[in-house]
Amino acid sequence: MKVIRLKPGKERSLLRRHPWVFDGAIAKGSADPGETVRVDSHEGQFLAWGACSPESRIRVRAWSFDQATRIDAAFFRSTLQRALALRERLGIASNGVRLVHGESDGLPGLIVDRYGDTLVTQFTACGVERWKDVIADALIELTGCPRLYERSDTSSRELDGLKPATGWLRGDGPTAFELEEHGWRLGLDIAQGHKTGYYLDQRDSRGIFRDHVQRLGCREVLNCFSYTGGFSVAALAGGAGQVTSIDSSGPALAQAAANVALNGFDAGRSTLLDADVNASLRRFLDEGRRFDAIVLDPPKLAPTAAHAERAARAYKDLNRLGLKLLNPGGVLFTFSCSGGIGVELFHKIVASAGIDAGVDGAILQRLGGAPDHPMTLAFPEGEYLKGLVVMRQA
Ligand code: SAH
Repeated sequence: MKVIRLKPGKERSLLRRHPWVFDGAIAKGSADPGETVRVDSHEGQFLAWGACSPESRIRVRAWSFDQATRIDAAFFRSTLQRALALRERLGIASNGVRLVHGESDGLPGLIVDRYGDTLVTQFTACGVERWKDVIADALIELTGCPRLYERSDTSSRELDGLKPATGWLRGDGPTAFELEEHGWRLGLDIAQGHKTGYYLDQRDSRGIFRDHVQRLGCREVLNCFSYTGGFSVAALAGGAGQVTSIDSSGPALAQAAANVALNGFDAGRSTLLDADVNASLRRFLDEGRRFDAIVLDPPKLAPTAAHAERAARAYKDLNRLGLKLLNPGGVLFTFSCSGGIGVELFHKIVASAGIDAGVDGAILQRLGGAPDHPMTLAFPEGEYLKGLVVMRQA
């Protein structure tokens, strides 16, 4: 067993069960990609078992903080079992559920989403990559799903020195799937779509959006960064008269059009714009258009804290435009999925956007990821998705 020894004083975060060891904390020791290592304090005290990622700044990701744990097939089976048991207790009313959420489920670098009887996985770190076969077999056995598709084509995989990998790992079948959420039908494609095919983390917020549109009687709705139109379908289900969806991805908008039809809504109530959101918002302002409800759900603008400053300006600008385009009494659902922008900072950004826009707003609610994307006490980075519901004062 290879040992990685930390520099003096660098044991604190592992003692608090945070699973990452950065390269700068290491005094000596290395291992092959994904190899299990023992991490010791400078004084030689056992801290954790982990997987080595020789090319990443996150050099070790911890599997266990218990010296008695053996990192073997049984370990992965029981850790997966625990993640599955949590989802069962949550009783999520959808056939699309996140079963494993990486570090938050004790499996750094592993994402598993279940769409009906199809599993879709992302392996984004050397540790889970090395145990891929063991994990795939255990998932098939524990879930009873006959097929598993790999979508390891995220940029975070590159940071671990791994090449993209996609395709069926176990079984095969169609890659198109129909998701059910809040009684709506949403088509997606696990091979072509973003991430594993859909943004499951926004499930609860889409339901809350539908409720607000309904309660406030919103007529004109704008869904920015719509992807396949989840929030647009929510608005139509809430009784919106006209929903404008903007995205820069043609295939996503084609799917959005299909999803509007799939739910029996008249295509005349839906406008789809293949365009840049920022430019479109400026154009709407020039044209004097106004909306009763607006969603701003941009892609990750600050992957890490290092990008936070530039991203903060981009978020502020978007929110300023969004708030200006709201009718008095209208609501803005604004989100950030950037790990590098914390809840407090996001709140500040939206507040200063309001000042710049000359708009007074009331924060009605804070939003976060759906509970099948848990955050653990030891891993605050798990809180990547945050949102605010802001009502423009009448
Ligand atoms: N709200 C969606 C998820 C949004 S993901 C849901 O609930 O499913 C972010 C989306 O922003 C992606 O679909 C991406 O294609 C789109 N996008 C990224 N940059 C954009 C830009 N500058 N203008 C318009 N759309 C953009």
